[in-house]
Amino acid sequence: MTNPVPSLLPQPPMPWLLPAWQKIAAASQRGSLAQGLLVTGLDGIGVLEFARALGQFLLCDAPVESASCGVCRSCQLLVAGNHPDIYVLKPEEDSAVIKVQQIRTLSEFMANTAQQGGRKVIIVEPADAMNSNAANALLKNLEEPIGETFFVLASSHPSRLLATIKSRCSRVVLTPPTKAQALEWLASHQVKDAELSLAQANGAPLRVLEWLNSRYLESSLSLADHLIKLIEGQTSASAASKSLTTMGVPLVLERLIFWAQQAMSRRWLPNRPRTSALEQLLSERSPQAVHLFYESLLRKRALQLSGNNLNAGLVIDETLIELAALFKG
Ligand SMILES: [Zn+2]
Repeated sequence: MTNPVPSLLPQPPMPWLLPAWQKIAAASQRGSLAQGLLVTGLDGIGVLEFARALGQFLLCDAPVESASCGVCRSCQLLVAGNHPDIYVLKPEEDSAVIKVQQIRTLSEFMANTAQQGGRKVIIVEPADAMNSNAANALLKNLEEPIGETFFVLASSHPSRLLATIKSRCSRVVLTPPTKAQALEWLASHQVKDAELSLAQANGAPLRVLEWLNSRYLESSLSLADHLIKLIEGQTSASAASKSLTTMGVPLVLERLIFWAQQAMSRRWLPNRPRTSALEQLLSERSPQAVHLFYESLLRKRALQLSGNNLNAGLVIDETLIELAALFKG
């Protein structure tokens, strides 16, 4: 079973990825490209898009300079979204984790000869979603690639990958856009006056777009609002807990981790515009206490990402108790 990849992507998919793209396209043209590639970079700057576009580029029979030709048989199949020799490995719909059973299906894909007679490409997005069984199973395939099979692993959190996986891959590091590049790109996607949203998204323009589409930014502002009211005693812990549980654990943890990071780094970057009133409040507390709170948030997020079933209400209540304690005395 092959998951369809969206039709032929621009190469590189975003202008700020051009330097990394040219480097890798040149290596491919020279025939010196590793069969295992690990594409890394900040979340929301185009890591997955780069990996997909690279996978498509590797399948083109006759690239023109550093881009797919768009007209060969392979490119035509990609345009139609049904190339048989590309496989996208990603978490199944109801899951955050890539499971070992999925690698077994992948092995079947690998065992078949390329239907177009050339290369085969496997994209893992994101590679850090593999649980350890899946990662070990993939490692076997990475160690003994059959024929001209390329693995393109995408990850914004490479520290979560097995060292053995990383050592089998050649690293492609993507650099984030400058603020001007990000704003220009957002403007070309009909997002104007995006400075504040971009700061909220830690400079990652794809997140801004994603947030706009999912109303994430509104939820994020409303979350800050609830927390500030709680800190200032204008709302009860149980009322705040109820609202936050509706927003969901991932949003609550992710935003609090971001605001805590921003608050902690404020000492070194005093002139950076602040991203929310909550960040301001946090930056006025003792740095050690904020750091402890931050570490506790990271532990909760690690549990959430490990695919364990968490009791959402419990995680949120605990977070609120810790936050309230930070503002006592
Ligand atoms: Zn082509």
